[in-house]
Amino acid sequence: MKGFMKAALAASVSAVIVGSSGFALAAEGFVGISMPTKSSARWISDGESMVQQFNAAGYRTDLQYAEDDIPNQLAQIENMITKGVDVLVIAAIDGTTLSTALANADAAGIKIIAYDRLIRDSDAVDYYATFDNFQVGVQQANTLVEGLKERFPDTKPWNVELFGGSPDDNNAYFFYNGAMSVLQPLIDSGDIRIVSGQMGMDTVGTLRWDGAVAQARMDNLLSAHYTNERVHGVLAPYDGLSIGIISSLKGVGYGSGDLKMPIITGQDAEIPSIKAILRGEQYSTIFKDTRELARVTVGMVDAVLGGGEPEINDTETYDNGVMVVPAYLLEPVPVTEANWEEILVNSGYYQKSAIQ
Ligand code: BGC
Repeated sequence: MKGFMKAALAASVSAVIVGSSGFALAAEGFVGISMPTKSSARWISDGESMVQQFNAAGYRTDLQYAEDDIPNQLAQIENMITKGVDVLVIAAIDGTTLSTALANADAAGIKIIAYDRLIRDSDAVDYYATFDNFQVGVQQANTLVEGLKERFPDTKPWNVELFGGSPDDNNAYFFYNGAMSVLQPLIDSGDIRIVSGQMGMDTVGTLRWDGAVAQARMDNLLSAHYTNERVHGVLAPYDGLSIGIISSLKGVGYGSGDLKMPIITGQDAEIPSIKAILRGEQYSTIFKDTRELARVTVGMVDAVLGGGEPEINDTETYDNGVMVVPAYLLEPVPVTEANWEEILVNSGYYQKSAIQ
């Protein structure tokens, strides 16, 4: 092969494994990528970024979406095992339902990476690539309090309602606990009042992160507890829920006349929510750069298949009920009207024209 062709080939393989001899080897392997659903844009970005980055590194991929149906995800994973994948990268719908399939994969020598969501009750998980999920909740609550101070400076207590994520997703507890680490002291001091009294993940969780479920619960909260009170803030853990909550509030007149929109949080920086932030309907979201999560995951796969150790920055936090899974946590970034362009457009995550 001519020198320049070799160079071009090497350049097209952006990630390479350096073998023990010191020579760079193009990565080889087959990666099964199991994502929960296409109903939320973030998982589509995750899938696209991973396929792109794995392919650039020389891997073959099989990407499947399970449309939030647990038996479907199990069948897709079993199918990937049958097809002979070397690695499974899984964002579980329900983190507790995969134990048997993963035990079989493990017995077949397949490596397993939990992606974004922890896989519970399984000792077959090799590594976990995610964001600092507790910090996501802290940032959500911090922006809620910042917004309350800004929009309702003369009001105390602030009337707030809490929403949690799906109780079968381990992340939902981290988000909720992170948020409550900020909010509980303010509830205790009387600055914040949870008018409905509804607290705790058992009560405020939203199965399958379903926006329609959140909207219906907000409707109920408004009619049961807010005929003589105003809502000032809503802790929403995910943009899809925030949009449902906003519809419910607008339905009873919030955001018009002198009924100011409450401060509403979110997560994932989805385009409908960035637009809602620019309209003043949603206050904040949390950006988690799925390109970075894909990069970390490709690095983990390179290491496990190449017999090396991936970069890990947390070996204590994520106990899955059977083992503490070594993890790499990325930093989430809060986004509001003040910084959306810098964080989302200047980083190349979105084209400005997709938003404005
Ligand atoms: C993810 C969030 C996402 C939520 C709903 C969680 O596991 O970490 O980014 O908002 O699922 O899809």
